[in-house]
Amino acid sequence: MELTIFGTAAAEAWPAPFCRCEACREARRRGGPNLRTRSGALLDSDLKIDFGPDTIAHMHRTGRDLAEVRTLVFTHQHSDHIVPTELEWAAPPYTLTPPPPIAVFGNAEVGGMIAREFPDLAAQNLDLRPPLVPLKTVTTPTGDTILPLPADHAAGSLLLRITRAGKTLFYGHDSGLYPPATLEALGDGPPLDIALFDCTYGAQETTNRGHLGIGGVVQMAEELRRRGAVTEKTKLVATHFSHNGRLLHEELVEAFLPHRIAVAFDGMVVRA
Ligand SMILES: [Zn+2]
Ligand SMILES: [Zn+2]
Ligand SMILES: [Zn+2]
Repeated sequence: MELTIFGTAAAEAWPAPFCRCEACREARRRGGPNLRTRSGALLDSDLKIDFGPDTIAHMHRTGRDLAEVRTLVFTHQHSDHIVPTELEWAAPPYTLTPPPPIAVFGNAEVGGMIAREFPDLAAQNLDLRPPLVPLKTVTTPTGDTILPLPADHAAGSLLLRITRAGKTLFYGHDSGLYPPATLEALGDGPPLDIALFDCTYGAQETTNRGHLGIGGVVQMAEELRRRGAVTEKTKLVATHFSHNGRLLHEELVEAFLPHRIAVAFDGMVVRA
């Protein structure tokens, strides 16, 4: 499996538009991996995770498109992860090569947002599936299984364990320290090939509620290792960074190096 991580910032992006804090000024000065857009990822070319406000820019920057997407799965309802109006472009006349209907999965809140935006979902090329229920597996049109897991974040937020052709991805954001049911389910499941962690708080003092900081990411990775979900082969990646976390990309890389956790940057490709 190949995961392209298009955006690696928290909701306000980094640099943040109305901010001249030290971390934003330094990110503007250094550029490169320090310029972070709102999150979203693509598994191979057909399974899109989240559809935030920067999605079209992600396609332009990477030379990719979403024409092969058969499944769209949402983690939660926050505006950096879903902008329902942007789904309008999946149907004619906004595409002249319309894909088959896209299976859309999300929690009840996400489903409601999409259904309110598009009274005629079929005309939009969207096949909205029943709301995801934590710990209940669903199967995608291409035969992948998605296990939604509870998160410590906005009500109904989900972490995603996606299994495709014998490989398993854990898409772990947005979340604070994982609820016991999530740790148990991951421990009971197959070893993870790729695991992504929310690191919104960076080097901030934090109790790791709602999001994680560096310490929380390391703690969760170690807990998953203890339970057998993380192995020597698991590719560990921290993402979803905020200027409030203070550490720039280069310093984040240094902080995570001893833990063998990679620091995501916009456009990063992870293969397993
Ligand atoms: Zn977010
Ligand atoms: Zn700032
Ligand atoms: Zn969120």
